[in-house]
Amino acid sequence: MSDYEFGICPYNADHRIMLFRMPKHIVKCEKNYRGPPLKICKYNATHRVLDMEEHLKECAYYRRYVNNQNVQIALTTRIPPMQEDGHDVSTPL
Ligand SMILES: [Zn+2]
Ligand SMILES: [Zn+2]
Repeated sequence: MSDYEFGICPYNADHRIMLFRMPKHIVKCEKNYRGPPLKICKYNATHRVLDMEEHLKECAYYRRYVNNQNVQIALTTRIPPMQEDGHDVSTPL
């Protein structure tokens, strides 16, 4: 049993890299990479993919980001709206 999680190097599927070493490995591997340019995921720099839209469908970091955004929205909408025309527009509970 290993204590470490492994990931597959985006530049060479033969490389199985410990996740905590992945950022360094990717920088090194990128220099030797000769394939089509990969896009860097905004939500995790170790995610390098050809098709970002496809990737975001399965990117756990993106999902986490979106969930955080939703939490933010949920929190801000709890604040009652401003009274603009004299009567309270917030729904009484
Ligand atoms: Zn590699
Ligand atoms: Zn990603």
